[in-house]
Amino acid sequence: MTRKILMAVITTLSITVCLMGIFTFYNSRNLYYKVMEKDLTRSVDLVSKEISSKDEFYSPDIAESIKIIANTTEQRITLIDLTGEVVFDTELNASELGNHLNRPEVQNALKGVLKREIRFSSSTALDMMYIAKKITISGGETGIIRSSISLNLMKDILNQSLENVIGYLGVFLILAALLSRYIIKSLMTPISDIAVFAKKIAGGNYKERMTSFKKDEIGELTRSLNNMADSLEDSFCQLSDRNAELESILKNIVNGIIAIDGKNNIKMINKSAYKMLNIPEDRNVVNKNIIEVIRNHSLYEMVTEITGYPEDSILENTRELVIGENIFRITISQIIDSHIVSGYIIVLQDITQIRKLESMRKDFVANVSHELKTPITSIKGFIETLKDGGVEDEETRNRFYEIISLETDRLIKLVEDILTMSFLDNENNIGTMDKEKLNPVEEIRKVIYLLHKEADKKHLGMEVHAEETVPYITFNRNYFKQMMMNLISNAIKYSRENGTVVVNIRKENSKLIIEVSDNGIGIPEKDLFRIFERFYRVDKGRAREEGGTGLGLAIVKHILQTHNGDIQVKSEVNKGTIFTITLNAA
Ligand code: ADP
Repeated sequence: MTRKILMAVITTLSITVCLMGIFTFYNSRNLYYKVMEKDLTRSVDLVSKEISSKDEFYSPDIAESIKIIANTTEQRITLIDLTGEVVFDTELNASELGNHLNRPEVQNALKGVLKREIRFSSSTALDMMYIAKKITISGGETGIIRSSISLNLMKDILNQSLENVIGYLGVFLILAALLSRYIIKSLMTPISDIAVFAKKIAGGNYKERMTSFKKDEIGELTRSLNNMADSLEDSFCQLSDRNAELESILKNIVNGIIAIDGKNNIKMINKSAYKMLNIPEDRNVVNKNIIEVIRNHSLYEMVTEITGYPEDSILENTRELVIGENIFRITISQIIDSHIVSGYIIVLQDITQIRKLESMRKDFVANVSHELKTPITSIKGFIETLKDGGVEDEETRNRFYEIISLETDRLIKLVEDILTMSFLDNENNIGTMDKEKLNPVEEIRKVIYLLHKEADKKHLGMEVHAEETVPYITFNRNYFKQMMMNLISNAIKYSRENGTVVVNIRKENSKLIIEVSDNGIGIPEKDLFRIFERFYRVDKGRAREEGGTGLGLAIVKHILQTHNGDIQVKSEVNKGTIFTITLNAA
C-alpha cells in the first residue's frame, strides 16, 4: 500500500514538475521575444529619427550613423526601397541581396503594421527576428527600415536555463519523494496496525485491543474499532452461552432431534437420536443424507413428502412409525427463515413403552373382566338353583353353600389383588409409600405361622434356615408380608403331599438373599419367563382349583421393583422350584 501511494505521489510530482518546466521554458522564451522586439523597435525608431530629416533615403553619411546604431545594439539594420530592393545592409553587401518585397515583415511595413516576424534568414542562414517600418523622409522619398537580430544567443541562454531548471527540478523531485515517503510511512503505520488488528478480530480473536490512540481521524477509527471489538466479544460470549445452553438442552433432552437442510442432509443430531436409531456413537453422520443414515422406507416417504410441500403450506407433520423394534412418534417441522424454508427439524419420541403399557392395560381390563365373570357366574348359578328350591337334599345344599363361600373368597382375593396391583402401578403411591427397617427373619416366621394350617392340610414340612447375622432391610411391612405370603403359599399350593417348603435367608456381600424352595410340581422351562406376567398361569385348571388369581407373582415382582430388589426363578418339572430374592441391606 505504502509503495502504491508513493508511486502515485511520485508520478503526480513528476507530471507537475514536467508541466512546470515546459511552462517556464515557453514563458521565458516569450519574455525574451518581447524584450528583443522592443530592442528592434527602438533601433528602427532611432534609424528613422536619423534619416527622417534627410533629403535622401540613403547616403554614405546615413550608412555610417546606421552602422554605429547597429554596432551598439548588435543588430543588423537594412534599408529597403518600396520596390523591395535592398539599398543598404549593415552586415551584407546590398547588391548581393535579392529583392525583399515578399518578405513578411516588408509586407507588414508596407501595410503600416509594426509586427515582429521570426523566420529563417536565407541571407545569413540563421533564425532571425525582424521588425520593419515604412518612413517618408523630408526629401519626400519613402522607404523601409528593417532591423533584425539572430535568435541563436537567446536559444543558447534558454537552453542553458532549461538545463538548470531540469537539474533543480530533479533535485526537488528527489527531495519531495523522500519527504512523501516519510509522511506516507508515518500515516500508513497506524493504518497497517489497524489492518493487522482487524485481521485478528476477523480470525475470531475477540480479546485483541489496540492501545495507541492518535488525536486525529485514525485515533477516532482506532477507538471505534475497539468499541466494535467490545460489542463483538459481548455478542460472541452471548452466542457461545446460548449455544452451550442449546447444546446441553439438546444433549439432555429425551427426545431425538435431527435438523436437516433442504437437500435432506443432516446438519445436527443429538445423542438421544443416535441411541434411538441405533447409530454407532463414533459414526459422524453430519452432512450425510438422512435416508442414507436411517434406512427406513416409511421415514423416507415422510421426509420426501414434507420436503416436497410448497413453502409455508404445512408447518408440521406428525406420524407414528416403527423403526427397528421400537415405535416412534415422529414430528417434522419446517425451519422458516425470512419466509424461506431453510430446513426441517425432525423430533423422534420413543412411544414403545407407552404403547406397550396401553396394550397391557387393555389386556389387563379384558383379563380382569374374564376373571371376575367366572366366580360371579358360578355364584349366580348356585344361588339361582338354591332359590328355585330344587335342592332338597341338605348335604348337597351345604356343598353348594361351601362352593358359593369359596367362590366369594376367590372373588374377594381377586379384587384385593387387583387393587394392590393398581396401587403399585401408580407411581405417585410408590413415592409416598411408608418404609421401615425390618428384621426379615421375624417377618418370614410370622408368615410361616399364618400359613402353617394350609401346609398341614398337605402334610408339608415348613422350614426356615437363617444365618445368625442377617441384615435388616428397609421395606414396607405390609408389602413384605404380602410378598412372602404369595411366594410361600405358592410353594404350598404347588407342592405334593408330604413335601417340604424351605425358606433360606442369608447375607451375600451387602445383599440379603431369600430363597423360597419347594419340591413340588415345578414349572416347565417354556413358561418360566412368563410366570411374572399378570394372570399368567401354567396350568389354568390347577391354579384355579388352588384358588390362585394369577396375580401373585406379578405383585411380588412389582413390590420388589418399588424396593430396588430382584427375583429369579429356577425350576424343574416334578422336582421343585426355587425363587431367589435379592435385596439391599438397610
Ligand atoms: P396364581 O395365583 O395362579 O398362583 P401366581 O402369579 O402366583 O398366580 O403364579 C403364576 C403361575 O406360576 C401359577 O399359576 C403357577 O402355574 C406357577 N407357579 C408359581 N409358583 C409356583 C411354584 N412354587 N411351583 C410351581 N408352579 C408355580
